[in-house]
Amino acid sequence: MCLLNASFAVFIILSVSVFASKDSQSGFAVGRNELTYRTEELSHEKFLAYAPLSDVPHLRKVTNNLLIPRVVGTTGHTQARDYITSNLRELNWSVEHDKFHDTAPILGKLHFHNIIAKLNPDAERYLVFACHYDSKYFEDFEFIGATDSAVPCAMLLNMAHVLQTALEPFRKTKLSLMFIFFDGEEAFKEWGPNDSIYGSRHLAKMWEADGTLNRLDILVLLDLIGSADPTFYSFFPNTEGWYSRLVSLEERLSDLNMLQRYISSGVSRQYPNRYFQPNTLRSSMVEDDHLPFLRRNVPILHLIPLPFPTVWHTKDDNNSIIDYIATENISLILRLFMMEYLQSATDEK
Ligand SMILES: [Zn+2]
Repeated sequence: MCLLNASFAVFIILSVSVFASKDSQSGFAVGRNELTYRTEELSHEKFLAYAPLSDVPHLRKVTNNLLIPRVVGTTGHTQARDYITSNLRELNWSVEHDKFHDTAPILGKLHFHNIIAKLNPDAERYLVFACHYDSKYFEDFEFIGATDSAVPCAMLLNMAHVLQTALEPFRKTKLSLMFIFFDGEEAFKEWGPNDSIYGSRHLAKMWEADGTLNRLDILVLLDLIGSADPTFYSFFPNTEGWYSRLVSLEERLSDLNMLQRYISSGVSRQYPNRYFQPNTLRSSMVEDDHLPFLRRNVPILHLIPLPFPTVWHTKDDNNSIIDYIATENISLILRLFMMEYLQSATDEK
């Protein structure tokens, strides 16, 4: 992705409107047609059943398998695609490839493949989690892209694995889960409208034409995750209610001492090292795979840290900077968000 104005970004954090929506019982909008779901916190019983589900050795294993250069058209790229596809097929997800050609600077005509995986291929609507699996081409060194975005891809595969049993009921529900692994997010020469986000541009256009876009509740896009202690913000007013659920889940886990290496707030309810900041950033200065969907009115949660990891687009974005404690903490919050969302939306029907 591309941060259009990095120095500007850190200075325009607005005040806390996120907390205001926390008490809303009227429901939060989803989808292009603004359906409304009433969110319900996971019951204490369910929270305690889901929260301990974890498999960090699996997360490490999956990450290691993706820590290879994955430039579109190379063997590593095919290997990463096959690995993601077979992992989800083994878990009995329905996986398809959206294949297309496009022409890129330097490398010319390329064959792209978005990977689309559905828990229930017959569902009417989907909560979508997404990331990109290609890695950036550099002329002078081999870029691994641990945070960009091997770790986010591994987090999704790990979620499907860890929650395998918990997700079983949602194989038959009208609202189910979809993962998208975008191809060709990275620019080959210089970031611009025709040299970047090849896969998401193609998919959003195709899905607008065939009506699939109307079946997406929210697109949750993960990017640049994997380094120590990232901080996230709410970018979009129409998903602020959903973002506030992430803030609340993090607090709930902290209050129960269920996050590792985390300063617990006790009674003061201060969270000095929180990941999901209760602040809004009202600017779309970070260009990424969400843009073609955002422009077509699909609600977006863009989970990208600000500031970016210091290793961004350097050879140091490799295995050595991965912080598995922070990554597992964030994964845990996202897993609970996923379960809470599926549960609330399903109860509604
Ligand atoms: Zn990148």
